[in-house]
Amino acid sequence: MALIVQKYGGTSVADLDRIRNVANRVIKTYDQGNDVVVILSAMAGITDSLIDLAQQITHYPEKRELDVLLATGEQTTAALLAMTLNAMNYPAQSLLGHQAEVVTDCTFGNARIMDIGATRIKEFLANRSIVVVAGFQGCDTNGNITTLGRGGSDTSAVAIAAAIKADICEIYTDVNGVYTTDPNICSDAKKIDRISYEEMLEMASLGAKVLQIRSVEFAKKYNVAVHVRSSFSEEEGTMVVNEDKSMERLVVSSVTVNKKEARITLIKVPDQPGVAAKIFSPISDAGINVDMIIQNRHSGKFNDLTFTVPTADFEQAMELARKIAAEINAEDVMGDTNIAKVSVIGVGMKNHSGVASRMFAALAAENINILMISTSEIRISCVISEKYAELAVRALHAEFKLDQLVAS
Ligand code: ADP
Ligand code: ASP
Ligand code: MG
Repeated sequence: MALIVQKYGGTSVADLDRIRNVANRVIKTYDQGNDVVVILSAMAGITDSLIDLAQQITHYPEKRELDVLLATGEQTTAALLAMTLNAMNYPAQSLLGHQAEVVTDCTFGNARIMDIGATRIKEFLANRSIVVVAGFQGCDTNGNITTLGRGGSDTSAVAIAAAIKADICEIYTDVNGVYTTDPNICSDAKKIDRISYEEMLEMASLGAKVLQIRSVEFAKKYNVAVHVRSSFSEEEGTMVVNEDKSMERLVVSSVTVNKKEARITLIKVPDQPGVAAKIFSPISDAGINVDMIIQNRHSGKFNDLTFTVPTADFEQAMELARKIAAEINAEDVMGDTNIAKVSVIGVGMKNHSGVASRMFAALAAENINILMISTSEIRISCVISEKYAELAVRALHAEFKLDQLVAS
């Protein structure tokens, strides 16, 4: 008998039939004598359509109100699953984020979980009830509804699993686990049986949306065993766990792609001390995360400065960049949202040379131009034109022979 947290993503609860499928899985676990807490996402596409509705009113909806609106997606599925379970004669109660005492900071749209009380979750469990919690949402200390950023139900699930000391957190999604690359892009992608928190963190931060990055941070910090698997099959998925000796330290173990970044270039920036600070301080003050930065000589005592930001912040960053350009006498500002960042990741890269040159050669062989490059100890990323994203992923997957990977 165990305490099990199960999280079901948007496609797994996309309609009433699928909610019934979820109910059957939950019941199976419950009937084995386990205590079950279920965390749900909104039905697939609902969060997007709610954002779209808000933007029909204004391009920049008030963030507090947007969170009130977005939280309704998860409220709907939580109630529907609890009703379905009740109709099947199983005791179940739904809880919204604030009722589960998911306390966050007040960053609307991207709030961080600070604490989880979980008093009522524990009370319901003590009565052998199935608890259904609306994912993606919490509440700040002033009682405002907050949301945790796109894909945030994963984080709700892992954080609740940590708070109630669950034995395992199962993430049910529409693929059979974590693969060497997105299986919807590359049919040769191989499922990874066990992956370390460290590598999963890197994959999540570089675009593998199968887990939200903060969920992996929580899992690592509180040692939560996470099992990523499909809600449409019985197949074992991927265990995300502490690194152990049985794990191969492959030079390259996965390829990711992120299409949700945009690039901004300030042309002919005067080459003087303090200019970079003048450019990036207002952007960081606006809460915008800059990812890559490169500076090239323009001519004479001028440089071109290019950086990337999340697409969601692109327009605001462009507005700021134009203002700054006028202040520092830069010639022009250019923006491009049609870019993609492809990355190769592997902990074994630490002790190997030649990975970068192989990556560049593989992209060159497909005639793909590299616009920007960045590296860390365990990954190399290239920004390319978005239209080549899938081609690049497949080329890199083949170059590093990930289709031949034997799962550990
Ligand atoms: P959910 O709605 O269940 O949260 P998501 O759409 O957020 O599901 O995440 C699952 C998707 O992640 C898959 O359908 C797949 O396209 C994508 N994905 C990207 N990279 C990977 C990867 N390396 N392994 C598995 N899935 C991946
Ligand atoms: N419904 C939210 C989203 O679409 C959260 C989630 O699905 O995890 O981003
Ligand atoms: Mg998701």
